[in-house]
Amino acid sequence: MRKIVIATLAMLLLTGACAAQETETERQAAPDVVNQIQQLEHALDVTSMVVKLTAPDKNRDEIVARVKQLMQTDLLSMSDWITQHPEIGFTETQAVAKLTAYLQAHNFDVTSGVAGLSTAFVAKYRRGTPGPNLGVIVEYDALRGTKGAFHGDQHSAQGPVGLAAAIAISEFLTRTHTPGTVTVYGTPGEEMMPPDAKTVMWSAGVFKGADVIVRSHSLMVTTRPAPGFGTCCMNIDGVKYTFSGAPAHELTAWNGRNALEAVIKLFDNIDSVRANMRPETRIEGTITEGGAAPNVVPDKASADFFIRYPDSVYLDQITAWVNDAARAAALATGTKVKIDHYGSQRNGISVATLAELDFAYMKQFGATGIIPEPGKPEGYEETGSVSSQIPGIEVTAKSSNFSNHTYGMLADATTDVGHSGFVIDAETEAAILYDFATHPELRDAVKTEFSRIQSLFAEYQRDLQKAYPKPEVPEPK
Ligand SMILES: [Zn+2]
Repeated sequence: MRKIVIATLAMLLLTGACAAQETETERQAAPDVVNQIQQLEHALDVTSMVVKLTAPDKNRDEIVARVKQLMQTDLLSMSDWITQHPEIGFTETQAVAKLTAYLQAHNFDVTSGVAGLSTAFVAKYRRGTPGPNLGVIVEYDALRGTKGAFHGDQHSAQGPVGLAAAIAISEFLTRTHTPGTVTVYGTPGEEMMPPDAKTVMWSAGVFKGADVIVRSHSLMVTTRPAPGFGTCCMNIDGVKYTFSGAPAHELTAWNGRNALEAVIKLFDNIDSVRANMRPETRIEGTITEGGAAPNVVPDKASADFFIRYPDSVYLDQITAWVNDAARAAALATGTKVKIDHYGSQRNGISVATLAELDFAYMKQFGATGIIPEPGKPEGYEETGSVSSQIPGIEVTAKSSNFSNHTYGMLADATTDVGHSGFVIDAETEAAILYDFATHPELRDAVKTEFSRIQSLFAEYQRDLQKAYPKPEVPEPK
């Protein structure tokens, strides 16, 4: 799941480079929080540390060479295979079988079906020792398309990328007697709500003990986030509206009540107030059920919506408004509506210590389509459940000439632009984990930055509460 990068870039150009937080409204509402994050970054002197860490290093060269070898011998072809055998969220059995078999063959113990999700798994390095627990999140679900499942978001590559990094770093730990271990988290259904797999897995304690987490995701550019609060694709409420009516012959429709008309009215109601909502608001819906035949008044119809805004405070207002639009649609059509809030995704945390290291390595390893300035803050996974609690980074080297969720990005997954991006993602993940395992000063800096930003979240939310006053609407006279 990705938002359109171009919009973010345009916003960055408008607002200047040091864009803490996503919107001008947020920055104006919480100047103190933004200021504290900027001071923190200054104090950490991330630039000097990154220069030191990314200097020539024989151990890292060996790890990166091993990553490349794994990708070229087995894992790029595994990525191609998964691309060609797409499975939508929570049905990814073939992909999971491939990935877990490979992990088992490389000294990882696999537990499948964790957190009650049949295609979720955890793989723990068998020869790990007490020390930093290096986490790798992998995903493998395809998009739901009208022509069937397709890998238009290139999640097909994420597993092989993560495996290459996890295996190369685990071998290094054992070979050099470096304390630490590696855990791979297989997280299904990134494109699905509900359930938010990572939230469910978080609640079940699956991620407990991870000290840092890396994950890759495809993009048409090479970029990294600024530090702060955010998520890739805005805070989201997933809401399903189900209308019930009464059936009748269409020619004697006065004997019925039309649930499909209620759904259509819901879309109309939303469109009629879009101009009164803040411009960053995104409300997208599909009609999931609309009746069975033209000669029977549909007595049941439903629509599935993702309601999005950069922060959860204003999003609460918008979701309440859409709910009212649904109630109004039911009232107007003589139908009844059931409102099901089935999922939500919230801000994670991004840290510059890992983001700048990530960016330096992606460039060093030959990434193309480089965006020089950091993007908006965003956690390394979209639900915010894990990325607001454990520090980490999403590695995004350019792997397509097309934007996310397109047939173009699907096609690029099995060609040079995809393959070279995936190798760079894997090399970068491994290099970051290597630095984290072997440099206590990096671990300290990441921990300091993450916990400091985390401690500012409540104040940030309080500030935002004041930013979105509703207009007074008097009673008509
Ligand atoms: Zn995605």
